[in-house]
Amino acid sequence: MSTNLNLISLLKENFGFDSFRPNQKQIILELLAGKDVMAIMPTGGGKSLCYQLPALALPGTTLVISPLIALMKDQVDALLVNGIKAAYYNSSQPPQIQTEVLTRLREGKLDLFYLAPESLPFLLSRLVNSNINLIAIDEAHCISSWGHDFRPAYTKLRVLRNKFPEIPILALTATADRATQDDILEQLNIPEASRHIASFDRKNLYLEVKPGNNRQKHILNFLKKKQQESGIIYCLSRKGTEKLAATLLANGHTAKAYHAGMTPEDRNRIQEDFVNDRVPIIVATIAFGMGIDKSNVRWVIHYNLPKNIEGYYQEIGRGGRDGLPAYTLLFYSYADIIQLRKFAKGTATEEFQLAKLERMQQYAEALSCRRIALLNYFGEHVSSNCGNCDICNAPPKYFDGTILAQKICSA
Ligand code: ADP
Ligand code: MG
Repeated sequence: MSTNLNLISLLKENFGFDSFRPNQKQIILELLAGKDVMAIMPTGGGKSLCYQLPALALPGTTLVISPLIALMKDQVDALLVNGIKAAYYNSSQPPQIQTEVLTRLREGKLDLFYLAPESLPFLLSRLVNSNINLIAIDEAHCISSWGHDFRPAYTKLRVLRNKFPEIPILALTATADRATQDDILEQLNIPEASRHIASFDRKNLYLEVKPGNNRQKHILNFLKKKQQESGIIYCLSRKGTEKLAATLLANGHTAKAYHAGMTPEDRNRIQEDFVNDRVPIIVATIAFGMGIDKSNVRWVIHYNLPKNIEGYYQEIGRGGRDGLPAYTLLFYSYADIIQLRKFAKGTATEEFQLAKLERMQQYAEALSCRRIALLNYFGEHVSSNCGNCDICNAPPKYFDGTILAQKICSA
């Protein structure tokens, strides 16, 4: 009971929140009890707090492994605003800043230390000599070649268990089916970790799928009604993002393209412009969005079919993080399927990718509640229709052979 009260007051004083989101408290209590935990929570579910709060409750420093510099920076900036002692370390920083951060780590002046996985091998002995109290591995699905975001540097993370045998490890992700979860725990060498799987249902996201013909025209019509709202359009190719952004611009919309072929400076600037409501529309490849904490994204459109349901769900999950209604639209065309199959061909994981693509296609073609299909895909069993998707809204009219037969017979 007293732990509960302390946690609530830490939550209130440091983050300004009155209550925990589903699963947060249980996860935090287990970590404080020294257990390893895997947290599977949807994008926007509040995963960061699951290690940020224990970081403050425990003496010493929490090590956070984070895959993207932009993501580390956003989190650290937000923590500093709340007066929490946090810093990040990565290879893009000037040596002087790196030294400064490492000094603070050594002197025990950090509550949270964010690190890119690539930098771990160089810093391991320093970390062992620091007072690490908890290890959080964000976007943990990056460790699994079964997942869709594989990052080789993540496979080096299993060393953490050996070097810190007594320290609880928290693996966090928004996207992992059962096989991927097993793989993550196996690879991190924490097979006994308890799993907390929050509901993936994001009731406020309206789900719609449309055929891909006339998508540009459709989007232009759609945007006429959405002038001031923030939204993201995902395209398959870099060229595609630039072309569509140019078309939107030519039609009077403030839109910017974003993809991995741009300089880090340009990418950062565009991201900041979006987060701060200076640019309402981003036309991006999937390079955009991981870890972006923008609560008022009102719509997400997939101009092309995503490669798999994990990616799709993560991308639409960037809409409506404030809990208010958000609209999502997926354009589906057979040409996209052909293109995506081509990409998968000849890769080491071809069969696996094709299987995931097929599930994506089935979703797009389904004639029953979209949310049931999505949640079932992630292993959550629901049976009642959601009432907040295109199918629930306008159930398809099935071709009914018996009525036709009756008509013929009675004619
Ligand atoms: P995730 O990493 O799961 O996608 P984040 O950790 O970025 O999600 O959290 C999403 C948003 O929810 C953030 O703006 C965060 O401040 C907010 N949040 C987290 N926990 C709570 C809470 N208990 N009450 C209110 N807001 C919260
Ligand atoms: Mg996160």
